[in-house]
Amino acid sequence: MTYQPFWFDSAINEEAAAPFHLLPQGHHTDVCIIGGGFTGLWTAINIKQQHPTKKVTIIEQGLCGQGASGRNGGAMLTWSTKLPSLIKLVGLDNALFLVKQSELAVHEISAFTKEQGIDCDCRIDGCFYTASNRAQLGLLDNALDCLDQFKLNSWQKCTAEQLLQTGSKQNLHAHFSAHGGSIQPAKLVRGLKRVAQQMGVDVIEHCRYKQHHGHEPINVTTNQGALVCNTLIFAVNAWLPTLQSQFSRSVVLVSSDMIITKPIPDVLEQLKLNHGSAIIDSRTFVNYYRSTSDGRLMLGKGGNFFSYGNKVHPKFDQPSHYKKLLNSSLAHFFKGHELPIERTWTGPSDRSATGFPFFGHLNAHPHVLYAGGYSGNGIVQSYLGAKILSAMVLNNNPQWQHCGLVNQPLKQFPIEPIRTAGAYIVRNAIRRKELAEDLNLQPHKIDCYLDKLSGSAAKVDTQSLR
Ligand SMILES: Cc1cc2nc3c(=O)[nH]c(=O)nc-3n(C[C@H](O)[C@H](O)[C@H](O)COP(=O)(O)OP(=O)(O)OC[C@H]3O[C@@H](n4cnc5c(N)ncnc54)[C@H](O)[C@@H]3O)c2cc1C
Repeated sequence: MTYQPFWFDSAINEEAAAPFHLLPQGHHTDVCIIGGGFTGLWTAINIKQQHPTKKVTIIEQGLCGQGASGRNGGAMLTWSTKLPSLIKLVGLDNALFLVKQSELAVHEISAFTKEQGIDCDCRIDGCFYTASNRAQLGLLDNALDCLDQFKLNSWQKCTAEQLLQTGSKQNLHAHFSAHGGSIQPAKLVRGLKRVAQQMGVDVIEHCRYKQHHGHEPINVTTNQGALVCNTLIFAVNAWLPTLQSQFSRSVVLVSSDMIITKPIPDVLEQLKLNHGSAIIDSRTFVNYYRSTSDGRLMLGKGGNFFSYGNKVHPKFDQPSHYKKLLNSSLAHFFKGHELPIERTWTGPSDRSATGFPFFGHLNAHPHVLYAGGYSGNGIVQSYLGAKILSAMVLNNNPQWQHCGLVNQPLKQFPIEPIRTAGAYIVRNAIRRKELAEDLNLQPHKIDCYLDKLSGSAAKVDTQSLR
């Protein structure tokens, strides 16, 4: 069987065949987690680390990692470039705590993969934020000023020599932080599945949640039968609005589209891209790229297909419909280089109105929890999300339980059809603006105004704290 996302396909092909665990009849568990992606698996591992006797079960509708976790860009990013908006959202103390934790998490994830023998090409070689046209120069300044103000600035302005490491003459300028890197995400998520099982977590694949009822205990119905649990966690990411309609306006499901080359180690050598840094430019719908240890170059671009009604559309599991756009981004950065393409794929990102994830108690139920809204920044952030969720389950860590991302009132997007129509109008305005800027032309005022409306979609805060 071939799976469309290149990473997931490679990871599954390298795994030894193992029998599926079916849901035992009359299954009773302390914690049932719906969703076998990073959030679900890190949460299960976290609970087991703190409380080894707790019975934890993960139910996953397909194979663990078939969602966003096994198909993303593998760029490990922190929240440091979003400090001003994080302060506005959760307050100063919480924001400083979360930014520091996001920087630490990069190194903790790397240490965990080494300790547990998860071979996922985890390279903590840092992260570059670049200006890939003149209009992007200085866009990081507000975020950096804010980081300076609170003595949290890990970013350094690159010298001409360091700028070469971004692999493209198109990058006019860059900042570098050592807190970042890249991974092969599907190998990480499949490795987490193995570790969770070794710790005693029951991982039931091909087991789809249908509904639940009851208070204490909670009865869960799946396609494989029923189970009973004391705590239920929705770690379903893009599927949250489908399963729980109260989230139908809390996110916008939008594709991120990826392209990867065949192995081209000599080209990477020439480009000075033979390292594991993540490289991201500063436009709203960023271009980001990274190399792999086996000599491939991957480029991703967000903000393409918006799914009407926030349904997880079949298009999210097909080759990218934006191959032309991806090719033109590759040509923009690596003009004149032969880049044979191996594959394109795509996947749904759940963008929240703030650009930050949210966690909470579903309908104020003390034992039914949810996570969502990672907004395309989820590798490092789902590791933090797991700390939040496990603290909520075990009720043992006020700092995480009250970090400001829990039980917050959620800003709502407009209803359909206004939401999708509006999203395309704004997306097209951003594209026109960015094309004009790539050509050193003055973008239209209306396009600039519409671009500002989507500020939370960017990976970098361009607004100041005031
Ligand atoms: C194409 C793409 C590129 C991205 N690039 C990056 C990047 O470079 N860097 C970064 O930091 N972040 C990136 N992200 C975001 C990141 O991948 C996600 O935020 C993160 O993987 C979310 O993990 P998760 O476990 O919450 O969700 P998922 O991995 O989506 O897991 C949710 C799981 O729930 C399962 N599920 C759904 N419904 C049910 C049900 N009824 N019953 C049982 N199981 C169910 C799904 O099958 C899925 O496996 C990207 C996302 C996409 C889509």
